[in-house]
Amino acid sequence: MSRVIAIDGPSGAGKSSVSKRVGKMLGFLHVDSGALYRIMTWQCLLNGIDTSSTDAVAAFASKVNVDCVPRGGSIVYFINGQEPGDAIRTPEINKHASPLATVKAVRDRVTAWLRDMVRFGDLIVEGRDITTAVFPESPARFYLVASAEARAERRRKEEIEKGIANQSTEEVKRSLLARDAIDSTRKHAPLKKADGALEIDSTYLTIEETVQTVLDALPADWKHEITAETGA
Ligand code: C5P
Repeated sequence: MSRVIAIDGPSGAGKSSVSKRVGKMLGFLHVDSGALYRIMTWQCLLNGIDTSSTDAVAAFASKVNVDCVPRGGSIVYFINGQEPGDAIRTPEINKHASPLATVKAVRDRVTAWLRDMVRFGDLIVEGRDITTAVFPESPARFYLVASAEARAERRRKEEIEKGIANQSTEEVKRSLLARDAIDSTRKHAPLKKADGALEIDSTYLTIEETVQTVLDALPADWKHEITAETGA
């Protein structure tokens, strides 16, 4: 049976950096579930689907096919043989992804893809509903948070480093808070701390400190394989 570490939290709380490092240290494949919602959004926009129409989005969701392939410690995604790259990280995708993720047919499809990934082995999965809806039975569930200011600053730097956008911290913060509001108030699998999940506030923690907090809280027999690798 594959083991699953589940990490939820709002955008910019540090889920990706932390889960990639923990995954590398333990030999668990890193899974970015948000990328699947972004791919759905990207495909809708490319195909001229009206993202404000639940029916149109739901009908289209069943037609999107994503190949999930383990590579270099992560699961990577292909659509028609192509990796989406930074095309799914633009401010436009940011704006449409949360409304699209409220559609149940979209969530059901992504959830099925995620659950199917256990065939690849042990996983560390990050997202918004992993601890509550996708893998609620996992004994290793975390809810990662940070102040809106810290999250916006991290995301702004990332966008500049990747050459995706050059928005002010205020603009990024507005977009993050708008997404948080939609994600935490939607009807299906809203973002919230699951009962029994460990909440970690990373506002004043380094990535290494956050990683250590996660490692400390894992079941003892999951830590046998820790390597000296920091993932830096
Ligand atoms: O994590 P990321 O910011 O890439 O996610 C993009 C969007 O996908 C989020 O704003 C959220 O609306 C949605 N999402 C979700 N459930 C997940 C992961 C992401 O609803 N498990």
